[in-house]
Amino acid sequence: MSFHHAEPHVPMIDPFGRHVTYLRVSVTDRCDFRCVYCMAENMTFLPKREILTLEELDRVCSAFVDKGVRKLRITGGEPLVRKDIMTLFRGLSRHLDTGHLEELTLTTNGSQLARYADELHACGVRRINVSIDTIDPDRFHAITRWGDLTKVLDGVDAARRAGIHVKINMVALKGVNEDEIAEMMVWAHGLGMDLTLIETMPLGDIDGDRTEQYLPLSLVRARLRERFTLDEIDYRTGGPSRYVSVRETGGRLGFITPMTHNFCESCNRVRLTCTGTLYMCLGQEDAADLRAPMRSSEANDALYTAIDEAIGRKPKGHDFIIDRRRNKPSLGRHMSVTGG
Ligand code: SAM
Ligand code: SF4
Repeated sequence: MSFHHAEPHVPMIDPFGRHVTYLRVSVTDRCDFRCVYCMAENMTFLPKREILTLEELDRVCSAFVDKGVRKLRITGGEPLVRKDIMTLFRGLSRHLDTGHLEELTLTTNGSQLARYADELHACGVRRINVSIDTIDPDRFHAITRWGDLTKVLDGVDAARRAGIHVKINMVALKGVNEDEIAEMMVWAHGLGMDLTLIETMPLGDIDGDRTEQYLPLSLVRARLRERFTLDEIDYRTGGPSRYVSVRETGGRLGFITPMTHNFCESCNRVRLTCTGTLYMCLGQEDAADLRAPMRSSEANDALYTAIDEAIGRKPKGHDFIIDRRRNKPSLGRHMSVTGG
């Protein structure tokens, strides 16, 4: 097997035999929230020339679709605060029409969803993830600093009315929302939405102390077991979530546990930042610049070559650590840069 064909339609298979079929793309590093575990309140954002234009985003996503990506997730920062972002969705929806792309999806904080839900549906978006860590308005404000829960919940309603399946992502934070996990689950399941719990990851400098926020999901699961019957199920969405079905609610509960257990064996994804940097692993520094090959020529040869070389170096896995003494993130870049 060779990784050096600079050609489209050569599937991306990494050195460990994993097919890369899932691309997550951050379309902006900006956000209208300042979640405490994600950003410092005072963030410096990238200058505009560094950021891929909407045309470049379409071009690079389309190159990945040519090379076998079946699932595309748009993220950020907050993707829906990017100016004219619907232009990108409208463009990318052509790959759904041709059948080359199976799914076009989105991770959002929900603040702009009420405005965009119908258009997203018209672009073929059928499932989205909305990040909500609490349904208590004051607590929501404390966690997101700038967020308004009412707007987000209106957004969730609008998406559901538009016919989009909503999954709720909740970061489990020790001493912050851990007492609300069961309630959130009952709420989400009551509306027919899956809930996925996420462990905090040590990504980027923030204002607070990481080790104080970290809550192992093994503990959460054990606690939930005291009140609910959790049945292991095979359900997979192509992501790293492992699901159980909750007998009492009839809903699904997912767990994303990068800290307590390795989900690398079946990793099928790569991540592109809004500056066109491709990360082959969320937990490793190695990256490839795709912006330079794109800007160097109108043809895609250099871009395909850069993608092939990058996939050829996809690492086997990651090893996150929160350094307890120095309270340094194990990776310097923020989740809002790499895209959650
Ligand atoms: N702004 C959008 C949102 O909040 O859904 C998309 C980008 S956000 C970076 C994607 C996901 O990453 C969110 O669910 C967020 O809660 C999660 N996230 C951010 N920082 C994290 C961290 N340090 N550890 C774990 N999850 C994090
Ligand atoms: Fe913004 Fe999402 Fe980060 Fe919260 S988690 S600050 S909404 S990018």
